[in-house]
Amino acid sequence: MTCITTPGHGIVTDTLIMHGIVKLFHVDKVRRIGDRYEICGDFSKMGEIVEIIKEELEEYSRNSNVARYSIYLGKILDSNINVSVTDSWLKSFAESLNEIKDVEKAYTEDHKVRYKEGRSKSKALYNLYLPLGFIYGKYTVDNYDAVTKEYRVCGKCFSLSNLGLIFGTAIIRYISGNNADVTLISLIPEDEMERDELLLIERFVEGKSENINIELTLKSVLVYALSFGETIYSFDSKVDALVWRLEKSGNFQRALQPEIFDITSLLDKIARLKSMSPDYTKILTLLVNKDYGDQSILDDLAEFLLFGGDYYRVIREITFFINRINRLNDKVTKGIDLEKFANTFIELGKD
Ligand SMILES: [Zn+2]
Repeated sequence: MTCITTPGHGIVTDTLIMHGIVKLFHVDKVRRIGDRYEICGDFSKMGEIVEIIKEELEEYSRNSNVARYSIYLGKILDSNINVSVTDSWLKSFAESLNEIKDVEKAYTEDHKVRYKEGRSKSKALYNLYLPLGFIYGKYTVDNYDAVTKEYRVCGKCFSLSNLGLIFGTAIIRYISGNNADVTLISLIPEDEMERDELLLIERFVEGKSENINIELTLKSVLVYALSFGETIYSFDSKVDALVWRLEKSGNFQRALQPEIFDITSLLDKIARLKSMSPDYTKILTLLVNKDYGDQSILDDLAEFLLFGGDYYRVIREITFFINRINRLNDKVTKGIDLEKFANTFIELGKD
């Protein structure tokens, strides 16, 4: 077993590269060290997923519609708020996939220096597009300007971060006219994690790419995204969620600084809610409904599930909410068992 280190391009890119490596190689263990990861395993043989993606990219070069319908390439399109770069992005991806080799020798601690990565004009390197790891700098908000701030990386970092985007993130989009919000969520070990759980955190997000109709806070998006699909019951290791958002307003784009949430107990609470109150996901769907939705209630619900607090308030808000919709359209709320939901919440509140 050998250990390698992610290059240090910031927590977003390093997280994506880590997920790309986990998807591609036989990884036994990942340890998080600050914004980087130490990854131990066998890097001599690559999974065949690379060939499948290469084939799709080849088809794309003949017919660009292919990307939209591909579950893999579609994920890149979904993450990207700057449509004008899609074509060069996918072409670079195809090219860079041929450069994933000798990962073991490449990913030493000084990788970034050795490969001359960073703000650079080198044509031998690849431009790291905004969703793959914008440079958000010292401040919470940083305006993105492709000309002055192009950040370039080697073909390994580029292809692996794309694979990480495809297999290691959930993507939630909100589009309204000329504006768009894209939130990306990646699950990561708080400290360290072994193979089985690493595969599980990827399986949990890889199929998730969704449009929503109302604008939500980061914590609401997180709770919403983790509540649908497969339920993960328990982890031996502690799990964090890395959440970051890109915003487009007309021609102006920006990336918000990523946030990390400890979701170990959130996952457990969601699992219990789903098994004890089958209407939980139905209520969530109503909270983000275009006509009836209410993001402030979802925010209070998310706040409680993530950090604890006043569960009576959440129960009260949801009861009012459902009753209000019920008066408008009782077909929508038909069969919702509010009492069961409230009792489940009281149980969770006792923790
Ligand atoms: Zn690199």
